[in-house]
Amino acid sequence: MFKVTGINENKPGQPFYGDCKWVYDTEELTEYEHLVGRLIVRPKRIIGRSVYRLAENIADDLEIVEYSPQAFNSSKVKGLSSIEEMHNEFNDELKKAFELESATLVEKSKSYPNKPASINTIVSVFKRNPYVTAIVLKNANGVCGNCNRTAPFKRKKDGSPYLEVHHRKTLANGGDDTVENCIALCPNCHREMHYG
Ligand SMILES: [Zn+2]
Ligand SMILES: [Zn+2]
Repeated sequence: MFKVTGINENKPGQPFYGDCKWVYDTEELTEYEHLVGRLIVRPKRIIGRSVYRLAENIADDLEIVEYSPQAFNSSKVKGLSSIEEMHNEFNDELKKAFELESATLVEKSKSYPNKPASINTIVSVFKRNPYVTAIVLKNANGVCGNCNRTAPFKRKKDGSPYLEVHHRKTLANGGDDTVENCIALCPNCHREMHYG
C-alpha cells in the first residue's frame, strides 16, 4: 500500500511515457508491509478500475477472502507456473532421457501428445530502451563485437544486418540498460556468451 503524495503529468523522456498520462509520487505505508502477498480481499460490490487509488474509501466494502501465513507466490497458483520451473523440469527429464536405451527413448517419446499442451505462465520482462539498442546497432555497423565477422544474415523485416544486443552485465543481475553496458553480437557469439 502506498500513500499518494503528489500527482504530475507524465512528460516525454520520463519512464513509461506514452503508457501513462499521470505520474504519482508515492510513499510506501510500511505499517501494512506484513500483509503484502498474504491478504486477499474481494469487493462486496463491483468497483471500478481506478478506485485502487482510493483504498480508504472502499475499505468498508471489502471482505477478507484469505489471510495466509505466507506471502503469495504466483507459481503456487494452479495452472500457473514460472518459465524457470518449466525449464528446470524439462532439463531434469532431458538429463534422465540421455541415459536411456534408444528403444526406451522411442517408446517414451510416444507418451506425449503430438500437439504439446500449452500452459499459462507469469513472466516479468524488462522494458528496454529502444534508443540504446539503436545506438549500439548503429555503432556496430553490421559487425559482431566479439568475432568481428559481418552479421550472418539480414533481417527479414527491413534488410538490416542481424545482430543481437547483449548486456555485458545482465539486466537480471542489476546491469544497466546503457550503451556502455551493451555490445552487438552475432547470434552465434551471443549464444556462446550465455551458454558456452
Ligand atoms: Zn560473433
Ligand atoms: Zn545476452
